[in-house]
Amino acid sequence: MVQIKNVKFSVQTIMFVLLMYGGVVGLSLTPILLPVFVDHNLKNRTVTCAFGTLQHNLTLAWELEYIIPFGTISAFLLIPLIIGRFLCGWACPLGFVQDVLTRIRRGLKIKNREFSRKNHEALSDVKYGFCLFLIFTAISIGVVTIIDFDAGVLYKQHFPLTMSLEPNCPICPAPALFFLMPDIITMLLGIGPYTNFYPSIPALMMVSFFLATSFLVIRFWCRYICPASPLFSWCNKYSLVYVEKDANRCTRCGVCVRCCPSKSRKPLEEVEEQRATGTDCILCFCCVEKCPENALKAKIGKFTLLSGKH
Ligand code: SF4
Ligand code: SF4
Ligand code: SF4
Repeated sequence: MVQIKNVKFSVQTIMFVLLMYGGVVGLSLTPILLPVFVDHNLKNRTVTCAFGTLQHNLTLAWELEYIIPFGTISAFLLIPLIIGRFLCGWACPLGFVQDVLTRIRRGLKIKNREFSRKNHEALSDVKYGFCLFLIFTAISIGVVTIIDFDAGVLYKQHFPLTMSLEPNCPICPAPALFFLMPDIITMLLGIGPYTNFYPSIPALMMVSFFLATSFLVIRFWCRYICPASPLFSWCNKYSLVYVEKDANRCTRCGVCVRCCPSKSRKPLEEVEEQRATGTDCILCFCCVEKCPENALKAKIGKFTLLSGKH
């Protein structure tokens, strides 16, 4: 039987090519903003990173055309209210790279590392602090620009590193990763570098951190660091796509937590509500497939997308 993780990986691979390098297969850039990380400067991308755009809006929020940022509102509110964090599991390029690293690690027979439950919960708060820091930094740039335009420009240029406008971009692993990868591949194939992009030292340090941690711990970046996820993960509580639980069937065996890339405890611990989708759930549906008691179902509204194979 086909495993859900293999179906997901195939979809992720297709989405990775379509979103990041769609221009290579004849697609053009669309006006769609998505809550996934796609670098703004990639010439063949087909969509735009909503988090970078949100920061861009906040630093320039006081210019008329940015006052109502419809694109970012839809990316962080409307899309997640319909599909929850489905894009995290099935389409985000940074999520895909982490899953590739996990496959490589498993191929090399290197064991996965896990934190204790207490440390996992403490580390899970890091992303909220990181998100707040970046959002407040962007707002402060906007405020300084209103008060004194020249001071705002200076602030933009000198904080925190060598950034142009968006506080996250110089320290986001996506630009360096997605520029470097095609370069490395084309150089290995002997057909020259794909771009002439030279990432900054902080960006290279962040990429190294991203690669090392996500190689050792499944979805480390998504679980603990991603500054975008706090903005829309709460939508999992109301989204049309979710995991449903029949508590009467559950034996509390813990299989769902063990197979979960986010180590979400909601499918195990939920006993009162049918919805078993925590804010940390990336809707990969691994738990649905693995539950030995068929206690879980993947739902879209009233319709069942997937139920257990047992
Ligand atoms: S949590 Fe992970 S998959 Fe979701 S947007 Fe962040 S990096 Fe992408
Ligand atoms: S895998 Fe199924 S039976 Fe086991 S704890 Fe999770 S929901 Fe309950
Ligand atoms: S709770 Fe289930 S669907 Fe959600 S991320 Fe974990 S395994 Fe995937």
